[in-house]
Amino acid sequence: MITERDCVALDEQDPLADEATKYYLPEGMLYFAGHSLGALPVAAQKRVASIIRDEWGEQLVGGWNGAGWYSSPARVGAKIAQLIGADADEVTVTDSTSVNLFKTIIAAMGLNTQRKICLTDREIFPTDFYIMQGIEELLGERFTLKAVQRDRIPEEIGDDTGLLVLSHVDYRTGDVFDMQSITRRVHQAGGLVLWDLCHSAGILDIRLNQVKVDFALGCGYKFLNGGPGAPSFVYVAKRHQENISQPLCGWMGHANPFAFDETYESAPGIRRMLCGTPSIIAMGCFEAALDELLAVSIQAIQDKSRKLTGLFIELMKERCADFGFTLISSQNDAIRGSQISYTHKQGYAIMQALIASNVIGDFRAPDCVRFGVSPLYLSYMDIWRAVDTLRIIMETEAWRNFQGQKKEAVT
Ligand SMILES: *Cc1c(COP(=O)(O)O)cnc(C)c1O
Repeated sequence: MITERDCVALDEQDPLADEATKYYLPEGMLYFAGHSLGALPVAAQKRVASIIRDEWGEQLVGGWNGAGWYSSPARVGAKIAQLIGADADEVTVTDSTSVNLFKTIIAAMGLNTQRKICLTDREIFPTDFYIMQGIEELLGERFTLKAVQRDRIPEEIGDDTGLLVLSHVDYRTGDVFDMQSITRRVHQAGGLVLWDLCHSAGILDIRLNQVKVDFALGCGYKFLNGGPGAPSFVYVAKRHQENISQPLCGWMGHANPFAFDETYESAPGIRRMLCGTPSIIAMGCFEAALDELLAVSIQAIQDKSRKLTGLFIELMKERCADFGFTLISSQNDAIRGSQISYTHKQGYAIMQALIASNVIGDFRAPDCVRFGVSPLYLSYMDIWRAVDTLRIIMETEAWRNFQGQKKEAVT
């Protein structure tokens, strides 16, 4: 049996224990939704105040050059590159993940117009799927979407596959796809691959270059703590950069935006993935969050993530075994992202009861409760407390008070 004392001991040995002081969380809250919206880094709050007052307020339009606003997509992209095993000039920061999916999928499919099939996991995050459906409607015969069951992906990769689009971590179960073997398989079949890193960037030790990934993207507001609606990042392997063109060819991706030419000419390198003017306040908030994250090693984060999620699973087995939860996340560290999911018939009511007790997780229809685990601001004792709170809710049946409640717009 794992005891409370064991958890205290784990915290005492934790090399990341002090990181939590760099994040603001309301007193008494146990926050298990970092996979959805990361916590506020104290430094980000200061940085945003400074951008507004010292940069926008004092420098006004001079900020584009003087405060490094214009170069911020590349500068912030270079910081993300360090986290995902890419070179500095292979990543930029712009738009939202949904918009970057649109741009990148069309750009990737344009590299080999002989192959029209875009293969994906039919249970991929909905926005990815919707964007692919929209592209199919837009491109007609030039694009065929083929969505198959997750475990059939490897066998469906064939010599007609133009592009494989996958989410590195499944948003419901937290399962991790084997990036290396799948990427290799696609390449052997002569296709290209795009990895969505929304749920893995900032958590897993990703090596895009080593694995020879073609394209990747992800959002800034989950485990990267960039703030609600933070800009997204996009990676294009250097070998593809000069050959792609993306459909949202706005002026910031032009070779020379301030020449005000009549015709579009793609900028060299990763900059051609830009569309319009970056959102500077959001960018600054995101950059401050990344600076905090880069102060610790991604290996240490991944290691603690596996230990925390492993502890969660063990404690649930020991203390909540009789309450009807079915674990849908893997018990194998190597294929588990930083989230633990269970299904339960009363999942929505149970999560509402947890939230009322200040343990914040989330719920995904129809019956999935999710606990995101950020190693930067959660401790081993926090895992203990969360599972214990859940045990009490189940034992006392406190969740019944939340049955039949109307669901909020955002669950
Ligand atoms: C969170 C998430 C998104 C979000 O896209 P937005 O454009 O930021 O709303 C997209 N794809 C995956 C896999 C995600 O997990």
